[in-house]
Amino acid sequence: MPYVICEPCIGVKDKSCVAVCPVDCIHGTDDDTQLYIDPSECIDCGLCEPECPVDAIFMEDEVPEKWQNFIQINADYYKK
Ligand code: SF4
Repeated sequence: MPYVICEPCIGVKDKSCVAVCPVDCIHGTDDDTQLYIDPSECIDCGLCEPECPVDAIFMEDEVPEKWQNFIQINADYYKK
């Protein structure tokens, strides 16, 4: 079950998570509004979650109800 980056990342993109991810599965360009976790590459290590200064990262089954759509948003990013 992958981790998911939710709404608080929008406009922040701190990238502390990118620095700690052991499999380099967190991406986003300067033009993107937020960062995204590749659900097919994430190994569920949880290292990124405490690094996020705005608490935007959750395990998939712990994503708050109001941000459930971000599960699909993260996955869709890697289907482009
Ligand atoms: Fe990377 Fe681990 Fe976070 Fe998945 S849980 S995005 S593997 S740091």
